[in-house]
Amino acid sequence: MKKALKITITGIVQGVGFRPFIYRIATKHGLKGYVINRGGSEVEVWIEGEEANLRYFLKSLNREKPLPSLIYNIKIKEVIPKNYANFAIRKSIKELSSFSMIPPDIGICNQCLSEIKNQKSRWYNYPFNSCAWCGPRFSIMYRIPYDRVNTSMREFPLCEKCKAEYNDPNNIRRFHAQGISCPTCGPRIWLTDNLGQKIDVKDPLEEAARLIDEGFIVGIKGLGGFHIAALATDDNIVLELRKRKERPQKPFALMALDIEYIKSFGTLTDRHKALLESYEKPIVLIPKKNSPILSKYVAPGLDLIGVMLPYTGIHYILLSKTRDKFLIMTSGNKSGRPLIKDNDDALAKLKGIVDYFVMHNRKIVNRIDDSVVRLTNGNVSFLRRSRGYVPKWIHVPFKFQRSIIALGAYLSNVGSIAFDRYIIPTQYIGDMDNLENIDFLFDSINFLMSMYKVKWNSSIIVSDLNPAYSTTLVASRLASKYGVNHIKVQHHHAHIVAAAIENGIILDDRHAIGIAIDGVGWGTDGSVWGGEILLSSFKEFSRLGHLEYITLPFGDLSTKYPMLLLMGFILENEGEEKLISFIGDIDKKLLPSSFNYEILIRKFREFPKASSVGRFLELIGTILGIYPIRTYEGELEMKLESLARGGSIIPHVKFDVENGVIITKDVIRKIIELKNSFSVHDLAYTVLIRLGETLGSLAYDMAKEYGTEYIIVSGGAAVNDYIIRGIKKGVRNMKILFNKELPPGDGCISVGQTVISNFILK
Ligand SMILES: [Zn+2]
Ligand SMILES: [Zn+2]
Repeated sequence: MKKALKITITGIVQGVGFRPFIYRIATKHGLKGYVINRGGSEVEVWIEGEEANLRYFLKSLNREKPLPSLIYNIKIKEVIPKNYANFAIRKSIKELSSFSMIPPDIGICNQCLSEIKNQKSRWYNYPFNSCAWCGPRFSIMYRIPYDRVNTSMREFPLCEKCKAEYNDPNNIRRFHAQGISCPTCGPRIWLTDNLGQKIDVKDPLEEAARLIDEGFIVGIKGLGGFHIAALATDDNIVLELRKRKERPQKPFALMALDIEYIKSFGTLTDRHKALLESYEKPIVLIPKKNSPILSKYVAPGLDLIGVMLPYTGIHYILLSKTRDKFLIMTSGNKSGRPLIKDNDDALAKLKGIVDYFVMHNRKIVNRIDDSVVRLTNGNVSFLRRSRGYVPKWIHVPFKFQRSIIALGAYLSNVGSIAFDRYIIPTQYIGDMDNLENIDFLFDSINFLMSMYKVKWNSSIIVSDLNPAYSTTLVASRLASKYGVNHIKVQHHHAHIVAAAIENGIILDDRHAIGIAIDGVGWGTDGSVWGGEILLSSFKEFSRLGHLEYITLPFGDLSTKYPMLLLMGFILENEGEEKLISFIGDIDKKLLPSSFNYEILIRKFREFPKASSVGRFLELIGTILGIYPIRTYEGELEMKLESLARGGSIIPHVKFDVENGVIITKDVIRKIIELKNSFSVHDLAYTVLIRLGETLGSLAYDMAKEYGTEYIIVSGGAAVNDYIIRGIKKGVRNMKILFNKELPPGDGCISVGQTVISNFILK
């Protein structure tokens, strides 16, 4: 007897070869009907035929689905057969597609890679090989839906062979695959010197590999932008790159041909391996081996190293032709500026950094940086959520009252838009201290807004509370321009709410205890917060506890010159006489050239105060003599974590808590006192573990007192293995939640902002 089923499949089912896959399994089992993309992230399937065949279909659906697809939910309804004559892939209806998920870029699949390696294949050595399961998506999209005419692949009409494969329903990887091409019809690659003069060679990637082996630094146009490639095994070259990039200490990421080569300089667990090989292909931080192969200047002072696998044919072919089979692959930009994506821009801005360029003629529409992940005490945490993950949306269990545009905070910023039941964070943008990055933020927000038909004049604009942030200033200007609400959200409140919503926790009329730990966020008392215990709902929060304040002499300058923090501590707690004898001993290079002792004394009471974990750890790091001047965000915290590896606890170093305030001064004194009698490893380890334990047990007490169910941990310092280990111990049996799909750092702020402002409106 003939039966019919209407199946609605939700998940990542668009732009990943899902409809051709459905077509294939339906026709294989002799079924009739159709498949169509619906709004949201849904595919609707109608199948009719013999009951047994319907069952086979459902089995295949689960077992054989394309790799990058993800099924969240399948709804099956029995319907009356309509006697369709065949099985058809129906065209998506235009209006419905306005709500479809923009597919993220997908790292090259193993099948495409084997074609590149196979001399008999027509894709042999072809850098742009891709299929329904892999290849660029978001980075080449002008608009939705993901059809070739809406991408920069529209400039490359399919040749006869490719067209035949595109139209062949039995070609599982190329049937209706929007991005396919071949050496006959696809984009081209070439080599230039750093002035843009084309160098005539047969194989530009082979020649680029040879140049890199000889010690040259080469700009490589890839998927979401340019990389800068150089040998990772030669100290002089790494130092030269540091000089040219004006990047004295910040670690460089590596790219390795395969897992085996990574083992020569890093230690991998199965979980690291799974992350590296996932189709998102992020940079994964792994423990660095003490190996003579890798230059010590690649990641100075750190025991973790960032590495990724090739995620396009370009990268794979290049690496396969190099001597080392792994290279530095750092972002192609000027320090702190947006990643460069266009050929002309690369020539203008990178010519002083690289010696040669590998370029190609496929336009990058949306620039997107490599994502960065690590394992923190066993959990995956994002340091940067970008390529491979963006612009996936976050589905929330409530409906936004109005569309919301959130501009985030200031450092490592990400914006978000929210509407209906979705929040869509932008790709990683960067620090909001220059116009180029601010433009990039608005380009990215505007792109998402136009895709999802969100308008400025009917939205709410949200920013951080900090009145000095460029994003706050712009938000207020835009709000008055469009005559809409501007809501300001406290930084750490946003952290906690972002982590809650990612875990599907609704804090509508109930509260949770949050531990928000980071470098800097404007507090409601005008001080710098960053070591906070908050009682938080979506709408409001109260501050139940925090780290004791320390003074930030000369404000922000003390972030760059942490020696100022130590001087401030001595002045405040030990007196001026002690400070004078201390100053006599320190190297003046550790202080800003503008340093003036008279002003330090005279203005000391006027300087801002901070309860920030970041500043506290920088002060500890300075005592331990880790580094003189901070050159990148989080530098000292990362180096302190590296030092703590292998340390053990010093039993009598403990924090006191008075009325919810974690007293830091006694621990600081103790560390100064014990500096010469214990190893730096033990000292660093003890401070981090004890700080975590104290935060955790304070949060535990508060959760008991207020009867809350969860403790939620977020903030940039929540990627520190030892602090998290301490917190886990401190909260005992209480349920603890972390950011999962968003960075615990400021990359999650704009998501929290959208949720909070929606509930403030209520
Ligand atoms: Zn593929
Ligand atoms: Zn072709």
